[in-house]
Amino acid sequence: MNAYRGRFAPTPSGPLHFGSLIAALASFLDARHVDGHWGVRIEDIDPPRCPPGAADTILRQLEAFGLHWDGPVTRQHDRDAAYAAALARLEALGLAYPCSCSRKQWRDYPIYPGWCRERVSEPGQPLAWRLRSDLGRRPVSWQDRLFGRQSFDPATLGDVVLKRKDGLWAYQLAVVVDDADQAITDVVRGADLLDNTPWQRQLQAALGLPMPRYLHLPLILGGDGQKLSKQNMAPALPQADAAVRPLLHRALDVLDQAPPAELAIAPVAEQLDWAVARWEPERLRAEFERALPDDAATS
Ligand code: GLU
Repeated sequence: MNAYRGRFAPTPSGPLHFGSLIAALASFLDARHVDGHWGVRIEDIDPPRCPPGAADTILRQLEAFGLHWDGPVTRQHDRDAAYAAALARLEALGLAYPCSCSRKQWRDYPIYPGWCRERVSEPGQPLAWRLRSDLGRRPVSWQDRLFGRQSFDPATLGDVVLKRKDGLWAYQLAVVVDDADQAITDVVRGADLLDNTPWQRQLQAALGLPMPRYLHLPLILGGDGQKLSKQNMAPALPQADAAVRPLLHRALDVLDQAPPAELAIAPVAEQLDWAVARWEPERLRAEFERALPDDAATS
């Protein structure tokens, strides 16, 4: 196996839909094309948002599409100690601080103004933890494999939350710690997360972690012009083979891989073999959003 390590990291807030299939499939093809490792990580750090059974449904959906992962599935709810260790390390470095402010208090500011950076918090109040972003002045930049050079001024990013007031870990901290512990070399995911990447890069720099490469994928919009998501009721991916085959073909088409028409009725393993051998992310058009007619998202 190649040193490449990729992952698909769904939040199990509901079943996968066509938009999540694009992320799963592209990350799978990118890994398999170079004979790399492809893992699945269930991002269930926010239990109230994750109905029981959703993670299992996601795994069955991946299997129905022939997207078989390597190694055990990892789950963020088992990773409390790793996230706590990362926060302790940031605190020891003077890069994390407790914050008692409420969103309401700073609603007139575009980002959190950092009032608690130097303040001793009053005991007994619920506290969030934030990353100090005012100590480095250099822009946060990286080369996205599809969208090219990205550069963000730290002054516009604010002090990202690492742990929430309700005690739950924030996505940014969990994803960075997990990507590093799982030795992820390549992150392939939707462009809705492109503007989260600067916080993740800041955290990687603060913790001295290796930085993966990033490939963000065009977002798929439904016929109503809305991003396909669980919130706006994007239909769940089917699991019956007759429905899966044409949808997999459609996903390869959306990824600009130009699958031949006759491949649409081929078994999923055959479609994937075809796509793994020919995967060319360079063919992807760098569109932030891409509209699809309704039927493509549902059929
Ligand atoms: N869990 C995130 C989601 O489902 C994806 C995280 C990632 O790929 O970094 O949107």
